[in-house]
Amino acid sequence: MDINKLVRKNIEQLTPYQSARRIGGSGDVWLNANEYPTAPQFNLTIESLNRYPEPQPEDVINRYADYAGVKPDQLIVSRGADEAIELLMRAFCEPNQDSILYCPPTYGMYQVSAETLGIETKIVPTRSDWQLDLNAIRKNLDTVKLIYVCSPNNPTGNLIDQADIKKLLELAKNRALVVIDEAYIEFCPESSIVSWLADYPHLVILRTLSKAFALAGLRCGFTIANKPVIDALQKVIAPYPLAVPVADIAAQALTPKGIASMQSQVAKINQQKEKLIADLAKLPIVEKIYPSSANYLSVKFQADKAVFNQLWSIGIILRDQSRSTGEEGMIRITIGTEAECDAVIAALKEIK
Ligand SMILES: *Cc1c(COP(=O)(O)O)cnc(C)c1O
Repeated sequence: MDINKLVRKNIEQLTPYQSARRIGGSGDVWLNANEYPTAPQFNLTIESLNRYPEPQPEDVINRYADYAGVKPDQLIVSRGADEAIELLMRAFCEPNQDSILYCPPTYGMYQVSAETLGIETKIVPTRSDWQLDLNAIRKNLDTVKLIYVCSPNNPTGNLIDQADIKKLLELAKNRALVVIDEAYIEFCPESSIVSWLADYPHLVILRTLSKAFALAGLRCGFTIANKPVIDALQKVIAPYPLAVPVADIAAQALTPKGIASMQSQVAKINQQKEKLIADLAKLPIVEKIYPSSANYLSVKFQADKAVFNQLWSIGIILRDQSRSTGEEGMIRITIGTEAECDAVIAALKEIK
């Protein structure tokens, strides 16, 4: 029996998300997934695993609401921000009818989730400065229910102009939700637009514990929006999205002490980023280092130097972005420890 004949057509044709882990590699220096380079310590405090978890664990919700400056009813917690990306589509898009819009180069899961669900995608590339092309977006809004914008943008690192996000919110009024993916906002907290929720019923903000909080392995993310949006998501989310140990650790990460250590992690990474920029700037094979508001750098290397493959072969795993950006030699480098960044620089110096 050919099981493939039973698989949905769109799934048969689907290219799954090329996650850093899926791409693989082997070595000691992993700077390809924008993770924090060291692990915070936690103890499990809840042992009653015979019981189902709270659907939306109260401590996690209250503490994150406090941290984010929103009300608990403006928040839903999910299995990473990735689940939130998909929940929005499941709640707001009719398959084979509605569409989502996004602006590459950007995060790959918007496309993958839409394809999985049979939702059409309108792809409006950013301008050459990696900012929104509002005119092209305006012309492509038919049938669009969700517009995904990542700021700071992954993989490029730049913030999206706030005046443009305001214009986008005006364009989308009464027709679509504008979803701002703030996965990296802790590295530039002054740039969050969470305070705009009061003025825009169709604004949605995505957050995660995977990056600045150093908990990518925990799988915990948040959607912030006004209550009607949250209520719609509550209808489609799994009954028990967070395992008991996940909620236990997330609640600890969101205590005042947990938030203080996240902030010191951010300070360390931002400092290390400045050092890496200075070190890279001295290398002749580096053509351009793009400004970054996140925990990674987009760097354009001389195209003929095969930098990505060279470093891969000695166990320094970076993220090749030549295809996503259309620029040969473009590589995204996660800011790691000082030793990891120094290993990158030492390896680059060996390339003639
Ligand atoms: C890492 C990342 C996510 C996924 O976050 P999880 O909470 O780990 O699912 C979402 N959006 C962007 C832009 C990311 O880089």
